[in-house]
Amino acid sequence: MRHHKCGIPKNIDKKIPGSFLFIIPVFVISFNSFLFFSCVRAEPARMEFILGTICSVNLYGLGSESVYNEIFGRLREIENLMSVNIPSSEISRINAAAGIEPVRVSEETFNVIKRAVYFARLSEGAFDPSIGPVVILWGIGSGSERVPASGEIAELLPLVNWRNIELDEEAKTVFLTQCGMSLDLGAIAKGYAADEAAAIVKKALISRALIDLGGNIIITGEKKDASPWRIGVQNPEKQRGTALGYLQITAAPNESKTVVTSGTYERYFENDGIRYHHLFNPPLGYPAQNGLISVTVTADVSMDADALSTAVFVLGFEKGFALIESLDGIEAVFVFEDRSVRTTAGADFTLTDKTYFIKK
Ligand code: ADP
Ligand code: MG
Repeated sequence: MRHHKCGIPKNIDKKIPGSFLFIIPVFVISFNSFLFFSCVRAEPARMEFILGTICSVNLYGLGSESVYNEIFGRLREIENLMSVNIPSSEISRINAAAGIEPVRVSEETFNVIKRAVYFARLSEGAFDPSIGPVVILWGIGSGSERVPASGEIAELLPLVNWRNIELDEEAKTVFLTQCGMSLDLGAIAKGYAADEAAAIVKKALISRALIDLGGNIIITGEKKDASPWRIGVQNPEKQRGTALGYLQITAAPNESKTVVTSGTYERYFENDGIRYHHLFNPPLGYPAQNGLISVTVTADVSMDADALSTAVFVLGFEKGFALIESLDGIEAVFVFEDRSVRTTAGADFTLTDKTYFIKK
């Protein structure tokens, strides 16, 4: 039972027609299969539009139709639970009950939100899953994007605060304590979905797979010739699929590794020559501006890499670099507006576009 005592500010109630939460076909790289996977001749992969992006899975001829079906069915299931654009999703139900009552959700939705809150704390709020009101206000990627007046932004800022997400572990409920708050899992749910897809691959004992959910990439197992996988890092100025360099990664049989990028070129609009992109600085309610164009994170768990790529982008190079270096088994590549590229110590990165340069 909902008691509408909660006065929802009108700009939050607004639905963006035809927009998706997870938006953007971010073909970071795997479509350069031709370039980097030439020795693993691509068997027919399957592609579908899910989670607001193009999801492609390649089982290199090792998987049956039913495994593909299971993977894509699972991705749809996650979309139905976690998309803000599906009114019956658990996230939409939590948002509709903001300031009113806790909402009981599935264990998996609960766990993704819990992990999102973990990364919010770890990044001191640079990553904040309660960014929903700001995302809706700007409408980037919705077709009706605009630069909001500073007063409009200021009005919403008190609503963006991960500390006001109450999680009850026992009851598996989520409560947004303020009217008008809303969750947006656009920066973490695709990573979770990629992990779930990889889990199906492993369960089916498929020894090699490439999963690409709009730029959230997971590889499992080894390439046929046991050479490292080469995953391109998107050149921000070129067509999707054109890399400026690549990361080499290896995974043991039945293990997986992930590469995830957050970049300003993925979803943006321009106004008076200024680019406004979709990675917001939560305390400002404004796209983060710090000289970075993209951050690519490698890790074992795609949900973590997804959250971290956004968190580190918003934190900026110095704090972001320090955060990544403090974490085991996680590396990053930073691409800057001045065409410099920096990497953490353990990243096996090769620059191929010589119009960019490595900075130590
Ligand atoms: P993409 O979805 O382009 O792959 P990200 O994983 O970086 O890239 O997610 C960006 C999305 O996350 C935005 O479209 C928005 O929905 C949400 N978002 C934007 N800024 C933040 C932030 N500071 N913290 C958490 N989520 C954010
Ligand atoms: Mg992300």
